[in-house]
Amino acid sequence: MNENVTKRNELLAQKVIKGLESRNMSGYWAATREEALGRALELIGEGSSVTMGGAMSAHEIGLVEALKTGNYDFIDRDAYEDKRAAMLAAYDADVFISSANAITEDGIMVNIDGNANRVSAIAQGPRKVVFIVGMNKVCPDQDSAMKRARNVAAPINTQRFGLNTPCTKTGACADCKSADTICCQFLITRYSRHEGRIHVILVNDNLGF
Ligand code: SF4
Repeated sequence: MNENVTKRNELLAQKVIKGLESRNMSGYWAATREEALGRALELIGEGSSVTMGGAMSAHEIGLVEALKTGNYDFIDRDAYEDKRAAMLAAYDADVFISSANAITEDGIMVNIDGNANRVSAIAQGPRKVVFIVGMNKVCPDQDSAMKRARNVAAPINTQRFGLNTPCTKTGACADCKSADTICCQFLITRYSRHEGRIHVILVNDNLGF
């Protein structure tokens, strides 16, 4: 990453971290993907049961591979034939790994979901939630974060899964009510009542969508 971009990202990340702390959540700056991986494994702790909600960013920093090969009880939902059982197991995990569709400069996270397994596990259930968030997800305010979630993250995901929605064809949100819509539930995480539950690693890189 270019030195000036890194400086700007670090300054912005410090602002986000301050915002997170004011909301009873913890934030961490990671200058590289490797640093992010190390921080995530430290927060998870060996021996923990861990699951995740389709977080591309976690794959990109090597976290999923590390969890599968290391001393962790990784609950791999793809390995479950019974998807409902996998979702229920997630609620009882020690740690849930996620990314965010967007995060504001003052620490509010926006996530949208079709099945709602991801947003519901972020909201409650797992004892700890660790977010891996690239600096490309930081938006000035909640309005722009929502716009990012609907006009950047969602269309890329509907294209990725080959869903029949307007945004798959146009690349922008049409506020659809298609049977395939992934915009069923919107979660705005603005405060954590539970001390030490939510941790956000801000990575000096473009991760996920
Ligand atoms: S509401 Fe429909 S068109 Fe808009 S982002 Fe969601 S799936 Fe796409």
